[in-house]
Formats: sequence, C-alpha cells, structure tokens
Amino acid sequence: MIIKERTKPTVMLQLEALLRRLPAQHRKRSQIEADLARYTAGYNGEKSIDYHLSFLPEKEFFILHDLRLPSASHFFQMDTLILHANFILILEVKNISGTLVFDQNFHQLIRRIGEKEEAFPDPFLQAARHKKQLQQWLATKYFNDIPLEFLVVISSPSTLIKMVTFNQSFYKKIVHSAVICDRINELLLIQRSPLLEQTSIRRLSRLLQKNHTIKLKPVLEQYQLKLSDCSTGVYCPSCLALPMNRIHGKWVCRECTRQSEKAYLSSLEDYFLLTNSPAISNKEFRSFLNIHSKTMAFNLLSASGLKHVNARKSRVYLRNNL
Ligand SMILES: [Zn+2]
Repeated sequence: MIIKERTKPTVMLQLEALLRRLPAQHRKRSQIEADLARYTAGYNGEKSIDYHLSFLPEKEFFILHDLRLPSASHFFQMDTLILHANFILILEVKNISGTLVFDQNFHQLIRRIGEKEEAFPDPFLQAARHKKQLQQWLATKYFNDIPLEFLVVISSPSTLIKMVTFNQSFYKKIVHSAVICDRINELLLIQRSPLLEQTSIRRLSRLLQKNHTIKLKPVLEQYQLKLSDCSTGVYCPSCLALPMNRIHGKWVCRECTRQSEKAYLSSLEDYFLLTNSPAISNKEFRSFLNIHSKTMAFNLLSASGLKHVNARKSRVYLRNNL
C-alpha cells in the first residue's frame, strides 16, 4: 500500500519556476536547463521502480516515497522506504546509464561510457548512512530493534553492473529494478519473525509522514541571481505566457486567451519557490504579481487559503507546505 506518493521533487518545481520567469536570452538558462534535466532523469528513474513495487502484496507492505527526516544536526532523504512487520527496507535509487563499476576499496562508483569514465558518490556509503540515521530517528520514537535493510536499486534496465572485487554481501545489495520483489522475498526468508504489529506499522507510517520536511534550496543564490532578474506578473496556467492581464475580475492570457480567476495562485507559489521566504506581505505580493491596488491584493491573499499572522499593517501570509 502506498502511504506517501512520489511527487515531483521541490527542486524541480523551483528550477521550473526560475525558467518560467528568466528572460529567454538570459545567460544562466542553459546551466539551469541542464540541472533540471539531471533532476528529471533521477525522478524518472525513481518513478520507474514504482511499477515493480506494485507487485508487492498491498496489505503487507507500506510504502513511503521521498521521505526527508530530521537527524541530529541535518536532514536525511530516502528515495523509498518500505515498512513490513518483519523489517524496514530503504531503497536508494540510481538512474545512471552505461557500465557501473562499484569500487568498494576506494568507495566510489565509476560510470563508463565508451572511453569516458566518471565518478559518482558511493551509493553504499549513502545508504548505510541513511540506515544509521533512520535507526537513530526510530530510537527517538521508541521503535527499537527493528531489522533495517537497504538496497541500491539501479533503475535503468540497460545499465551493466560490475564490481572491482567480488563481495557477496555487497553483491546482494545491488539490484536492477525488475528483481526488487525477488530480493524482498529473499529478505523475508532471512527475517522470518514479525516484530511489528499492524497498528505499530500504521502508527510509524503516520509519524514518518508527520516528520517529513520539504527542502527549499536557495535557488536564486545558487545561480547568483536576484528576484529582480525574474519577470513579474501572473503566468498563464495553459501556455505559461507572462504576464496575464486582469480584466473584470479575471486573469486573461494575451497569448492563448485563457481566462482564470485563480491563475494568481500558482504565481504566488512561484514567489515562495524562488525566494525561500516562509511568508509574503501585501507589498511583496503586489510587487511580484504586478498588482497596483492594496485592497485587491488583500482580497486575493485572503481568498488564497494561506494562513496569516500579525494584524493590519504588518500582516504576512504563511507559505503552505509545498
Ligand atoms: Zn496562455
């Protein structure tokens, strides 16, 4: 059963917002487009394993995708977490094509395509670290002594997997996505006794969801940009043209003539995605969405469904969990 669906990573939403609002000839566009393509490939890789996971018995397996939990000083993010009465399994998904050589002597993953070699961080180290962090997190919630396992899943079926030195225990932890279910069944043969009751699994999955925290990267700073580099106004939800005109209480697209009363809501979300700000004032809203009237801005913000704090002049509206 899928408890937490896989959704588009926030960083992709941020880069999409940036590309929507940077002028067509802007010098940073190609770099941002390349980064977005990389994140998209990773996301597509993660999505492609969902098909294989759909063969697991619904009532026995509780699946949570993209969990980001607080650890002692940082956060840690797991691509997929599977809860079962007998064990908890972390999946670290890698969408890397070519030939992958796992080098456990130097803790690196080398990708070969033709003559070209490229190094990636060791996914075993990553997954092992996540396992330790999850163990600590579980202990703070009084879930102790649950067997924790991890698998490194290679999502592209054409990727060739090799190891510098054959090691049985590592070998068992790398799988192509098509054989995830087989490997999970093997784990069930090892971890035979149930340690978690259904009610505990449900309670744990609620706790995990509640503690999930999104990450907003400071995208503008990352690319040495300012909010003033971005075009302002409400964009068209159909053709993305900027800005729409406000006519008789509706937003009207000058390109495709789409009319919408709520088009401003996605542009309001752009503000939060781009600025990382936890809140927006009436003035900031007017400036980002090209709205001249304070009263109209007040009415639109009031209708946005965002919670607000402070009274009158210093009122700000709080960002929803994106
Ligand atoms: Zn349009």
